[in-house]
Amino acid sequence: MPSTSKRDYYEILGVTHEATSEQIKSAYRKAALKFHPDRNPENKADAEHKFREASEAYSVLSDPQKRAAYDRYGHAGVSGQVFDASNFGTIFEEFQDIFGDVFGFQDIFGGGGGRSRTQRGGRARAQRGADLRYDLKLSFEDAAAGVKTKIKIPRMENCEPCHGTGAKPGTKMEACATCRGRGQVHYQQGFFAVSRTCPACHGAGQVIQESCQECRGQGRVERTRTIEVAIPAGVDNQMRLRVAGEGEPGANDGPSGDLYVFIEVKEHSFFERRGADLYCNVPISVSQAALGAEIQIPTLDGNEKLAIPEGTQPGTLFRKKGKGLPDPHGGKGDLYVNVRVAIPSKLTKEQKTLFEQLHRVVKVENQPVERSSSFFDKVKDIFS
Ligand SMILES: [Zn+2]
Ligand SMILES: [Zn+2]
Repeated sequence: MPSTSKRDYYEILGVTHEATSEQIKSAYRKAALKFHPDRNPENKADAEHKFREASEAYSVLSDPQKRAAYDRYGHAGVSGQVFDASNFGTIFEEFQDIFGDVFGFQDIFGGGGGRSRTQRGGRARAQRGADLRYDLKLSFEDAAAGVKTKIKIPRMENCEPCHGTGAKPGTKMEACATCRGRGQVHYQQGFFAVSRTCPACHGAGQVIQESCQECRGQGRVERTRTIEVAIPAGVDNQMRLRVAGEGEPGANDGPSGDLYVFIEVKEHSFFERRGADLYCNVPISVSQAALGAEIQIPTLDGNEKLAIPEGTQPGTLFRKKGKGLPDPHGGKGDLYVNVRVAIPSKLTKEQKTLFEQLHRVVKVENQPVERSSSFFDKVKDIFS
């Protein structure tokens, strides 16, 4: 039943967004007891609606993945994956752990494991295929420049010879004897009637006479597919790409799931990345720092000149605008060059003599400097 305006799942169960899974379970149990149609004979329709609403909310909030998607995107984040609460039998089957001891349905549902395919009007319900995840490791350069790459994914696909039915081609399916082809079996519990997916045919209403040899009656076979994916320039760790429709096929003509490519970028030997900006350390000599110099610095597109002004202090950060990484959402980052003044650790005789001469003419007051004139004065923004 399509609901016109969807209420917030947390609100339905009366829990906070920080509620633990135990609290959510307990809230649902309470709601289910309260709104159970059996307990509200005078107001059955309204109770039923609330009961279903709570069941749907619980199906999402009790699943950590769905809950995370719901927290981020609301109802849109879980559309298509929301548990179908239109059938009471399914509700009880799905949440057996909760209802088993509450309503005394254990004897009916006990031992009935396995996922169900709900029947509606005699036809098995279409289900969306599962999403797949692929972890892709990229070199720093490929991530920076973007790359087209082929990935191999093993996935379940509908068996071709039998078109996913599991029946040997040319043979006929026959009506299930247990449910007489209806796909559902009915139980009566007090004045509450329960329908349940037929355990013999799993809701299909039909059973296979002779199994397809290719898939041994499963209707599905594992295939490894090669898929080309275009990785945009500037991708970073934790990013993921969605390749629509490349997940597993849906059941009963349902749509295929999606493929998610999770990106992992290897570290660069000297570039460090912060968002789209790049950082690197480049040593300069004492005399280059004092006298000024023009040096060559590495960028992602080859070497570039960087002018070191006279009197450059250790730790000065120079910025090369637009020489960082491309941002996949547009624009480009900057490159920051941190100059380190290299002090010779072992002096030759000649160097020693020269430094001694220098010492006589360059004097520094060995007193702590004021805070304001220390760290921040070193940042030099060079726009180039
Ligand atoms: Zn059946
Ligand atoms: Zn087959």
